[in-house]
Amino acid sequence: MLKGLMQDQPLLISQLIEFAERHNGDGEIVSRRVEGDVHRYTWAACAARSRRVANALDGEGLQVSDRVATLAWNGYRHLELYYGVSGSGRVLHTINPRLHPDQIAWIVNHAEDQVLLFDTTFLPLVQAVHARCGMVRKWIALCDADKLPADTGIPNLESYEAWIADQKESYAWPTLDERTASSLCYTSGTTGNPKGALYSHRSTILHAYGSVLPDMMGLSAFDSVLPVVPMFHVNAWGIPYSAALVGCKLVLPGPALDGKSVYELIESESVTLAAGVPTVWQMLLAHVQSNGLRFSSLRRTVVGGAACPPAVLRGFEQDLDVRVQHGWGMTEMSPLGTVCTLKPKHRALPLDERLRVLEKQGRAVYGVEMKIVDERGAELPWDGRASGDLLVRGPWIVSGYFKGEGGDPLVDGWFCTGDVATIDPDGFMQITDRSKDVIKSGGEWISSIEIENIAMSHPAVAMAACIGVKHPKWDERPIVVVQKKNGADVAREELLAYFEGKIAKWQIPDDVVFVDAIPLGATGKMLKARLREQFGAPASAAA
Ligand code: AMP
Repeated sequence: MLKGLMQDQPLLISQLIEFAERHNGDGEIVSRRVEGDVHRYTWAACAARSRRVANALDGEGLQVSDRVATLAWNGYRHLELYYGVSGSGRVLHTINPRLHPDQIAWIVNHAEDQVLLFDTTFLPLVQAVHARCGMVRKWIALCDADKLPADTGIPNLESYEAWIADQKESYAWPTLDERTASSLCYTSGTTGNPKGALYSHRSTILHAYGSVLPDMMGLSAFDSVLPVVPMFHVNAWGIPYSAALVGCKLVLPGPALDGKSVYELIESESVTLAAGVPTVWQMLLAHVQSNGLRFSSLRRTVVGGAACPPAVLRGFEQDLDVRVQHGWGMTEMSPLGTVCTLKPKHRALPLDERLRVLEKQGRAVYGVEMKIVDERGAELPWDGRASGDLLVRGPWIVSGYFKGEGGDPLVDGWFCTGDVATIDPDGFMQITDRSKDVIKSGGEWISSIEIENIAMSHPAVAMAACIGVKHPKWDERPIVVVQKKNGADVAREELLAYFEGKIAKWQIPDDVVFVDAIPLGATGKMLKARLREQFGAPASAAA
């Protein structure tokens, strides 16, 4: 073999922030804060404060690969942690604050987090879990020193600003192996315990390169980009990294994600590109339409996490002249797999036909290979009709889960997404079903197994099946189909009340439907597909 004579420079996250500082140092980062005001600074200031974070972590005695957790909204301090923690070789573990405190405590312990930084909105959550998180030796509130809450009962609590105040602004970022872990994100999108997707510097940089491509997320220095998708949800689809790569203006929305707040932020910051789950765009569209508003700067939205309802697509495209692009991916895929960008031949199509293409999840980004297979694993044709299990592989897709949880997820090197899809001859993938046993409500997972286990722990319940029912706002909501024990009785309200305190409020099923017998297949498995046919439409759920 003749070896190429190119330099072997590792791909590192610290290079992104250095690049942003040097080449787009005056580029703006605007954050709406928990305090209610708006904070502004530049990529250069972000880089300087990230280096202070790295020095502060050194001061805490943290080693390479030690985990540092966040419970935080999208904001500039969170962004500094993205770079300060990962850049210095530690692993940034972003936690979903919408989980139940028991789930959060489990995840913190599983990750062995040593430092946990949180927005003050999440103080009650931290108070509920801190006594159970033995390995966390430092708790930091993301606020000014004079805003530090008093009498919290949390030991060693310090404010973020006090923590970094006396740290130096210079820091020599370490030259790490590019395969070193950089960040960690748990998903409850599969069965069993939450599983950690452990990203590396290499996977993160390659993903950032792929996602900024013009036919993918298409970020540019000319954009003002608003990630409404949370920074605790697969690194806000990698936007904190891809924004640094292109040096665009970054607008971070904080906790206010309702239609009015998002609209006002888009207008005041001249946002050109926004990204988030369908629920957010539905709320935004409703606000804009009911108040007769227009967008003065917004050109494009990337919608992912769940299928975008056709009415939302049409509303943005037809009424507001805003392009809507499906993005599909998973926590296990960093997350980007496909984006729905039309091909040149689609441009001249009438709107209705174009919208039919846009309803698909889209074409693969270079770096992600995909295929669909039947139940025996045989590959199916890309004819837009054959529907099968969607498998993927690529350098930003997991090869396993943190600490080996859940065993080997690969089949012959391919990762099974749990989505069922068709792929048309032009390479447009469309999700038609889901084989994994979970429900996605407003972009967040609900484990059907957890709900079934709780239902079945009730003395009157013989068998319970949790299924997703289509919902106009939340995409899907869980209901539980229950077969009572012989001679036992329980009322709907009583069973619903039984869930309270056991899981987060929004995870509690919307309804209980009693049946004489839950249908079982030949191997004794509950036939959920049949239950979905019977009860999956909203009308029957209400009945
Ligand atoms: P998560 O790991 O939370 O990002 O969830 C990934 C899953 O969300 C995928 O496997 C799909 O089931 C679903 N999903 C993500 N994006 C889309 C989309 N654009 N359309 C339909 N479902 C999606």
